Amino acid sequence: MASGRVDLDGNPIKPMTICMIGAGGFIGSHLCEKLMAETPHKVFAVDVYNDKIKHLLEPSSLQWADRIQFHRLNIKNDSRLEGLIRMADLVIFFALICLVSAFWLVSVEIGFGLSSLASGSGFCGSFESFSLLLSSSKTINLAAICTPADYNTRPLDTIYSNFIDALPVVKYCSENGKRLIHFSTCEIYGKTIGSFLPKDSPLRQDPEYYVLKEDASPCIFGPIEKQRWSYACAKQLIERLIYAEGAENGLEFTIVRPFNWIGPRMDFIPGIDGPSEGVPRVLACFSNNLLRREPLKLVDGGESQRTFIYIKDAIEAVLLMIENPARANGHIFNVGNPNNEVTVRQLAEMMTQVYTKVSGEPSLDSPTIDISSKEFYGEGYDDSDKRIPDMTIINKQLGWNPKTSLWDLLESTLTYQHRTYAEAIKNAISNPTAS
Ligand code: NAD
Ligand code: UDP
Repeated sequence: MASGRVDLDGNPIKPMTICMIGAGGFIGSHLCEKLMAETPHKVFAVDVYNDKIKHLLEPSSLQWADRIQFHRLNIKNDSRLEGLIRMADLVIFFALICLVSAFWLVSVEIGFGLSSLASGSGFCGSFESFSLLLSSSKTINLAAICTPADYNTRPLDTIYSNFIDALPVVKYCSENGKRLIHFSTCEIYGKTIGSFLPKDSPLRQDPEYYVLKEDASPCIFGPIEKQRWSYACAKQLIERLIYAEGAENGLEFTIVRPFNWIGPRMDFIPGIDGPSEGVPRVLACFSNNLLRREPLKLVDGGESQRTFIYIKDAIEAVLLMIENPARANGHIFNVGNPNNEVTVRQLAEMMTQVYTKVSGEPSLDSPTIDISSKEFYGEGYDDSDKRIPDMTIINKQLGWNPKTSLWDLLESTLTYQHRTYAEAIKNAISNPTAS
């Protein structure tokens, strides 16, 4: 499995220890899976939750059991962590309760988190294990609030989570000579230049006006009262800070800009493994509608365009970055699939067709319904019009290309959604007071 691995230049890859912050989330869980199954690397998996990586942690007889350790901690505020960091003079933490997306989960998890911190179980709270964490050779930061429904309704949490909370991680890496792979977002580009042209302008068809290039495209956000952009703005500032740490202090970094990575375990299904009033990203929203046999809600007509990439393709790119530092350091990479572009309306139509196939249930007579962004997301919502990644840099540096078509990725993802949730949804609908 691990032996004989070589990098893109034919050099043997040495086993490394990776501190992955946000490892319990959607992307983190897939990356942990890949690292355990296909590499000899060790992972310190840091998160407040571990539900999505439980299958990698238990039972202890798993072949990689000695290569993954879960550390239940909130990077905002862990007093012992803060004490340790102060002693080591490495990182600064802020004393704030973590507000991750699901309130009802938070109340359960905070109780568990605090008791496990107190007892030293779950979280490896000892001095020893934390020093291990600090001495790991590489840091991957995935922790963030990253659902659009939060950007305009919880702008403060969004800015703190995506900028302030990431500051100590960057500082720590810079001061200690640790390499950092930081997850930013394609949203950093904001709106396309083309969106400001008249609707009938032929230039709108010119890729120069819409393809998003890491080293050339501007970042175009709406006015401050459109708080949707609080996320993009916070992510932009942390990117600039990381870049400056590289330029002035020699930080070895790679910045990843994901373009709508989707697949199994993304977000939550409201009322099943997340709050019933919660609004996840579009894949989970539409999956929830399909599972409940409700029309899919198209925000402002579903005219926005997105390119969707299968999580497993995207994880291949991240592994190349991890194992090819000489090619990845100092770069910002778009990671997306330019061939999978659809409007949100087309996505809804395709998901409806695919779900009919995988579930065997006929679609509704009216499978979609229009809704205003104000009604769906509240005041201050705005949207990215179109997101096509330029692939020149990642192609040149890592020789990577995405493989999976939108239909195929939806088929495997909706098969997973149906298998995982259909029964639970039926039970919740037939017994609404129990959920
Ligand atoms: P996710 O919400 O599934 O994962 C984020 C994880 O970070 C969660 O498990 C959460 O518990 C953890 N976290 C948040 N705050 C924390 C804290 N204070 N302490 C410890 N852990 C904390 O999101 P994801 O889709 O896996 O995204 C990962 C990263 O990629 C984020 O930075 C996000 O902005 C970026 N991103 C993802 C996409 C995508 O397509 N999925 C698109 C653009 C950007
Ligand atoms: N959207 C929608 N219906 C939903 C959820 C989302 O029409 O039930 C739209 C949303 O307005 C946006 C697109 O789908 O135009 C993608 O939304 P997502 O939450 O996945 O994140 P984004 O790509 O905007 O970061």
